[in-house]
Amino acid sequence: MTRPSGDSAIFILTGAGISAESGVETFRDKGGIWSKVRLEDVATPEGFARDPDKVHAFYNARRAGLSSALPNPAHRALARLERDFPGRLTLVTQNIDDLHERAGSNDVVHMHGELSRSLCGHCGAKADASAALSTATACHACGREGGMRPDVVWFGEMPYRMDEIYERLVEADLFVSIGTSGAVYPAAGFVAEARSAGIRTLELNLEPSEGTFLFDEARHGPATALVPAFVEAVLAGVPAAGRPR
Ligand code: NAD
Repeated sequence: MTRPSGDSAIFILTGAGISAESGVETFRDKGGIWSKVRLEDVATPEGFARDPDKVHAFYNARRAGLSSALPNPAHRALARLERDFPGRLTLVTQNIDDLHERAGSNDVVHMHGELSRSLCGHCGAKADASAALSTATACHACGREGGMRPDVVWFGEMPYRMDEIYERLVEADLFVSIGTSGAVYPAAGFVAEARSAGIRTLELNLEPSEGTFLFDEARHGPATALVPAFVEAVLAGVPAAGRPR
């Protein structure tokens, strides 16, 4: 058995499925968030302009719910990988929760922003937002009210740090997609990007995602079982995704 080398690089993308067993609702699963509210109403700039109170209520409820959610063994396994993997690990999440950080991951790229941060629509200043936001919340930087929003990326907006993400992706030897339906671009396109760069690809998801056929290997089951087993194998030097191409 060969130990992982300091030259190898793993790129991991996580989605709502990794937080599902922590009690955080996913979006597209049966009974998920999009079966209860319209994404056009709460996750677009137009929805916010139409009814900011409704959008604040939606995110305030999710922020409050997060305080009772705890990181699960899948989050903790990825924190262990960050600590013990001798190569380069990139962890990009579509999740706006902070469960990776609370599990001990120090270097997480939140491509869709963070529920625990606010963004001022007037001056662009960002700040910690542990409490509820409203149209009366004043910006700490410009002092104006009425423009405060959660620092989350809505449909029609550009995800964060995309140049850096693509640079890190094409440098990797292995791309792993965890708990994501593969329905939201640009993240849904990472597997095709990785394939065209000759990078091995592995899916870990409860069920086959929309793009499951694009992966070299797919393992299906709960993240709390699949991710710790994957991390254990990587740290033991077992090749992670079946057929190298
Ligand atoms: P999604 O709801 O579209 O898909 C979730 C996927 O996770 C599904 O394929 C499902 O089969 C899988 N899944 C469900 N339970 C699982 C489990 N226990 N173990 C492993 N996999 C499981 O979510 P997505 O793909 O992340 O969608 C992307 C969008 O959803 C992003 O915009 C993201 O910001 C947003 N989102 C974030 C959160 C969060 O912060 N926790 C929650 C919901 C949605």
